[in-house]
Amino acid sequence: MKAKCLECEGEITIPDDVVEGEIVSCPDCGADFEVVEVSSGKVELKAAEMVGEDWGE
Ligand SMILES: [Zn+2]
Repeated sequence: MKAKCLECEGEITIPDDVVEGEIVSCPDCGADFEVVEVSSGKVELKAAEMVGEDWGE
């Protein structure tokens, strides 16, 4: 399925088996988005927070 980039309105291809919380990247501008909701072939995105990556510090 497809989603629209919140930054550049480019088209982002989302895998059909995407799950909430997954991070997708826009191929056009490189922005990262988090999938917040998946429902009947549509996905809701929000800008991904790039802080707090849990790498154990
Ligand atoms: Zn974009």
